[in-house]
Amino acid sequence: MKASRSYGEIVAEYRMFLLAPHKEEHKHSRAITLWKYFSRASQKDKKDYWGKLYNHTYSYDGLTLNGCDIQRALRKHLVRLQGNRCCYCRRWLPNIAYARPIEHVLPRSVFPQFSIRYENLAVACYDCNKQKTADNWSPFKPPIRKYPGPKDCTEFFHPRFHRFDSHVRYTRIETNDTALTIYLGRTVQGRHLCSTHLKHIALMEAVCTNNANLKSSLQKLHGAGNMTNITHMRKFEEFMTLLNQSICSFAG
Ligand SMILES: [Zn+2]
Repeated sequence: MKASRSYGEIVAEYRMFLLAPHKEEHKHSRAITLWKYFSRASQKDKKDYWGKLYNHTYSYDGLTLNGCDIQRALRKHLVRLQGNRCCYCRRWLPNIAYARPIEHVLPRSVFPQFSIRYENLAVACYDCNKQKTADNWSPFKPPIRKYPGPKDCTEFFHPRFHRFDSHVRYTRIETNDTALTIYLGRTVQGRHLCSTHLKHIALMEAVCTNNANLKSSLQKLHGAGNMTNITHMRKFEEFMTLLNQSICSFAG
């Protein structure tokens, strides 16, 4: 099996998404139109329209369509493609929406023109999304007009183009009380992912699962998945950000 997907495979995956771009079948064709409209507009205006799509409501001739439902359908599609695992660390994704955020591989803060670009989107776990934040791991610098292809991504791991198993090997030991994962890069892209990112994720997991008090607190926090209270959600975000930062500074 090749280390990278071909352009044809990406196109086939995109066509698969277009078969069900909305949770309600009778809205599919309108959802495709809306998705393509926002995608083109984002590229043309060089603006981040991801949030705009989420909040958009289309209403015409008795048909109402919400942009957030298109993003939910995309998440479902990507999770299925990824075998229900995080695009970076390959751990299982919990079945909670906030814990499986859609990740912009080339960050939308740096490349707003790719904010609604199909191959720029993948689903990460909460930890990976928090750890990566808006970091640009690629060597590309704005402005670039054309989205890079699999052959252009030679220096960093692109989860939509590269096959994880060809680039990174990992060993995971899990017992009742603890978990330990060791990642080893096999290629330039894999080693870059390990040194930039996965070493922090492995360390964070080891610290959290080997500390009984911290593990118990985190389980309670994660258990409160459907946090509707915005203040609680913010406090949770702040706590996780501080935890990530302290572990990263410890890891160096
Ligand atoms: Zn992850």
